[in-house]
Amino acid sequence: MERIRMTTPLVEIDGDEMTRILWKSIKEQLILPFVDLKVEYYDLGLPKRDETGDQITHDCAEAIKKYGVGVKCATITPNAQRMTEYNLHEMWKSPNGTIRAALDGTVFRAPILVDGISPAVRNWKAPITIARHAYGDVYRGTEVRATAGGKAELVFTDKDGNESRQTIYEFECDGVVTGQYNKDSSIASFARSCFQYALDTKQDLWFSTKDTIAKKYDGTFKEIFQTIYDSEYKEQFEAAGLTYFYTLIDDAVARVIRSEGGFIWACKNYDGDVMSDMVSTAFGSLAMMTSVLVSPDGKYEYEAAHGTVTRHYYQYLEGKETSTNPMATIFAWTGALSKRGELDGNEALQTFAARLEKACIDTIEGGTMTKDLAALWEKGKAHVVTSDGFLAAVRTRLERSL
Ligand code: NAP
Ligand code: MG
Repeated sequence: MERIRMTTPLVEIDGDEMTRILWKSIKEQLILPFVDLKVEYYDLGLPKRDETGDQITHDCAEAIKKYGVGVKCATITPNAQRMTEYNLHEMWKSPNGTIRAALDGTVFRAPILVDGISPAVRNWKAPITIARHAYGDVYRGTEVRATAGGKAELVFTDKDGNESRQTIYEFECDGVVTGQYNKDSSIASFARSCFQYALDTKQDLWFSTKDTIAKKYDGTFKEIFQTIYDSEYKEQFEAAGLTYFYTLIDDAVARVIRSEGGFIWACKNYDGDVMSDMVSTAFGSLAMMTSVLVSPDGKYEYEAAHGTVTRHYYQYLEGKETSTNPMATIFAWTGALSKRGELDGNEALQTFAARLEKACIDTIEGGTMTKDLAALWEKGKAHVVTSDGFLAAVRTRLERSL
């Protein structure tokens, strides 16, 4: 069989631990035999990041900007324990944070649904995609412990030195105070990424905040979304038969639970952090969650939502076979190949990505799956396989479909 040709390279970003092992197997078993893969390779494994003073992370972000599509393996975000484990020169920042900042992007997470593993919410029929603003608010907050008898004030000094001053609270007992901010430019990028992704995936867009309480703060988010929608996206949405609507976060939560799914729910940073864990758990498993970073000017980075699965990696190092679920990492590859195909007008590549996804889903629906899913399986006894066993089963189905 002739392998599918590619015209433009994909940015391939390698990572750490168990997911690095899966990465190699996925390429060897499911991609290289069928696609004449054209990539620009960046090794974001922790040793390489340390060796290059993290320059490699910045370089790979630039490469995504240049080529438009990247696929990323999970990576370790170093902490104190990793400093000793890897003998690091510095506690390097989260690569995801660095890439996100460079692309000014928004993260979209959606579950992979299979027949036989039902969402905890009975009426959910289609995936719910969470779009999380990944900048500012409480994640960039400044906090103080207040002491009894003290006064907290909000002071803003403009560029000419004029001060405005408001009392937050005069403390009769001890307490707490936080200062938070966001930027109009970042909110606007978030809005454009959401509208663009809704058009790309042909889904309605919901956006929710608490603007009845935070009238200026959340009110600004609401206004920027509405202004950008009206001036840049309304016509395209109407032409595509899609809707955008804004509602209060509490109303959104109630509607989401009653819905059938199949839409994008845009959330502020904290809301997105919390709600994406709720939605992914209710749909089944983190190992069945896809994640894509989309920049406002249409650059895409696909990855799995889970981490490097350290516990399984230590078992692997002891020579044990693991039953780590490769689904989210395979879908990162299919997402990237399909987007590359779409941008390059390469239909064969798009078709291949769709067939690989179908082979994966058919394998699970046929009862063959990794250990994490077996516990959720509702159709009798599951055939539990190792990661390699799962990839082999998918390959058999894929070959049959090509
Ligand atoms: P994790 O790697 O997501 O794993 C947490 C647990 O979830 C695992 O121990 C496993 O449970 C289960 N799990 C996750 N993915 C699975 C899969 N594909 N198949 C089967 N089970 C799976 O999170 P973590 O242990 O908190 O973090 C490990 C490392 O990943 C950290 O160094 C962190 O910095 C990094 N991380 C990277 C990213 C990223 O690059 N996107 C995201 C998050 C974390 P059992 O042990 O019960 O089997
Ligand atoms: Mg979280």
